[in-house]
Amino acid sequence: MKKKRISILGSTGSIGVNALKAVQNLNGQFYIKYISGFNNYNLLVEQAVKYKPEFVIASDDNYAKVIKLLNGVPVKILSGEEGLKQACQDKDVDIVVNSIVGSFGLKPTVFAAEKGKKICLANKESLVMAGSYIKKLCRKTGSQIVPIDSEHSAMLQALNGENRKDLEKIILTASGGPFRTTKGSLRNVSVKEALNHPNWDMGKKITIDSATLMNKGFELIEAVHLFDVSPDKIEVVVHPESIIHSMMQFADGSVIAQLGLPDMMLPIQYALTYPERAKLDVPRLDLARIGKFTFHKPDRKKFMALKLAETAARENGTLPVVLNTVNEIMVYKFLEGKIRFTDIVKNVEKEMYLHRNVKSPTINGIFELSNELWRKFK
Ligand code: MG
Repeated sequence: MKKKRISILGSTGSIGVNALKAVQNLNGQFYIKYISGFNNYNLLVEQAVKYKPEFVIASDDNYAKVIKLLNGVPVKILSGEEGLKQACQDKDVDIVVNSIVGSFGLKPTVFAAEKGKKICLANKESLVMAGSYIKKLCRKTGSQIVPIDSEHSAMLQALNGENRKDLEKIILTASGGPFRTTKGSLRNVSVKEALNHPNWDMGKKITIDSATLMNKGFELIEAVHLFDVSPDKIEVVVHPESIIHSMMQFADGSVIAQLGLPDMMLPIQYALTYPERAKLDVPRLDLARIGKFTFHKPDRKKFMALKLAETAARENGTLPVVLNTVNEIMVYKFLEGKIRFTDIVKNVEKEMYLHRNVKSPTINGIFELSNELWRKFK
């Protein structure tokens, strides 16, 4: 069998590191042609030495440092957007893993979709910002998006062998984040507290999004586009144990769930091998030890982000672009200690309120709006 050629974008992030491991575990099924990183150039260079891709893509800022560190390593070095475009559109590449963090990941998704690639998508912001456009583009080019997000991987697995028209409802599970049981205002929570996720070990941006529940809101929008359902057919249920990764309810009332310990290796490998499965050596679920599963409704007053995302999902157009971009800007401001935790979502709400929604934006309109918001809060 011919090896599948793969580009792993954002290889130095939490998903990217595991994607490289998954490729290695799948022993020779894949050939890594491109890897790209943002500012962790030491790790990027280490990965280039260990995994021997043909190309390494550095962000512009680190280009020179990477060249210097790679001195003598037989690999070609590219940089910035042009490099990412080549990695996504290379005729030889079969699969693009997009694990870039934030709105910067949208362009590579579009590049890969333009050329009909299989896209293993961890960058949920792509679908949040431009889901309708990307889905249309995929239908035109035959590009297939396979989600890496654990919830959407669960949904995909629960749909196996089912007829999509029988899907009645999606039950999207949420861990509830670190402040699920916190009483009173979250005004004074620290960066450290917000970064302390109870179940998942992830990058900083997504961990803060999990603490505000914005991540769950993004996942709702992601599910709308991935599975062609209207937002009112998706119910968010808090399930603190994070064992059931989501469920699908069908026309006869049957509910199919996917279970597993919270470990991203599983959804990453599944996205790579989909629709096949492969052996994965991770700890197995011990249900008797876990003892019980609990569920409750999310508190939409305490976690306004969920409500805002539901509004953005219903309205669609450019409103989700505002939701996503302003959230991203505010998360970094919070991480830098410039605003309070509760200001993240407050500012998103304010900008959404001020925004005049454009129902069917062009992709350039989406990029322009996002850039405009970045400039506004600089
Ligand atoms: Mg998730």
